[in-house]
Amino acid sequence: MALDRRAFVKLAACAPALALPGCTDPERYTDEDAARLEAQRRLERERSGRGPYGPRRYRGYRGLAELPWFELDAQGRLRCVAEGLPPALDVHAHLGMSLLLAPEIDLQASTPRVHHILDCDAEDPGCPLDLDVYINANFRPEDLRALRRGAISQMLWGSAAAATHTIPNLLEEMRATRVERALVLPIAFGLPFGDDLSERWLRAISEAGAGGRLLPGASVHPRDPEAVVRLRSYAARGARAVKLHPAMQRFFPDAPEAEPIYEACAELGLPVVFHGGRAGIEPTYTHQFTLMRHYEGALRNFPEVQFVIGHAGARDVADAIPLAQRYPNAWLGIHGQGVTTLDEMIRRLGAGRLLFGSDWPFYHLAATLAKVLIVTEGRPDARYAILRGNADRLLGVG
Ligand SMILES: [Zn+2]
Repeated sequence: MALDRRAFVKLAACAPALALPGCTDPERYTDEDAARLEAQRRLERERSGRGPYGPRRYRGYRGLAELPWFELDAQGRLRCVAEGLPPALDVHAHLGMSLLLAPEIDLQASTPRVHHILDCDAEDPGCPLDLDVYINANFRPEDLRALRRGAISQMLWGSAAAATHTIPNLLEEMRATRVERALVLPIAFGLPFGDDLSERWLRAISEAGAGGRLLPGASVHPRDPEAVVRLRSYAARGARAVKLHPAMQRFFPDAPEAEPIYEACAELGLPVVFHGGRAGIEPTYTHQFTLMRHYEGALRNFPEVQFVIGHAGARDVADAIPLAQRYPNAWLGIHGQGVTTLDEMIRRLGAGRLLFGSDWPFYHLAATLAKVLIVTEGRPDARYAILRGNADRLLGVG
């Protein structure tokens, strides 16, 4: 019997576990939601450079050497040279991803330079880097095309950029920027094969003997029937947090399918690190999964679980701040937010639940570090809390 073509198209279009275009649930995502994203982008463009720190535009990551905390070394590489900074703990880093058919990346390899996904130092002078907008606003159309090509390579034949996202390269950039430790977050995509980043990265960190500086995270997929079993095994092997990515994993964070994971996290004492909010460069139909109101059920129903809202809600930061005000188990990863917004977060929420994160290798570690240093100049307690103290408390690091 021939499969009805329309039925097949509908099935394919809604297949949520596959990386295919899907359906938007009109109950979950309204025209008003879409309009608010456009308004946020417009307002951000208009306001860039008009906040308390003035224009903050640089040429490439190397351009950050204009700031008092950074210099270029003899090889032209960016170094943090400030004395007396807190030893930062980056709660949002990744390693090179290869999925499906792509060959495994040699995570122990060292290469002459890191190709960040926003490869801002590829040319000299580097790409325009504005620290007063959400960071992905710095992707030009050609960078976005490269990003999409790279994502396909990572699933098929392997990506040359991802081959530079290795443990020695991350450790070297941490040394250069005086970042002491990093929480490394894999993602379980829910693919039928070639999707075991948690396993690979746990093993690679241990093989590198890097456990003192790289704290392994783990990820499970809410629709994996083995999710809880896997989670227990990762925790037993040293995983310090669970990464869940509602957009890439195509699930609503308040859906019943995610609850067994939250229950296990409560029992295991593991924090959940969510990707939070609409970044604006992901497939449009995934926007529905990451609206801030869809995170509230998890925060409310699992008060004993600590939840990090990654990117502080990204372009939905205006909704993330009140959520964090209402729920003491909500923490905001600051990665991506511009300096004016970071200042607003400190003023409205206090610094006590804000967490430094770089999203390496998307961006150079110095991009977020520079923003924290700009905004916390003259605020030493906030600087310590954001760069280190809060992460120590969250992760039980001493
Ligand atoms: Zn990330």
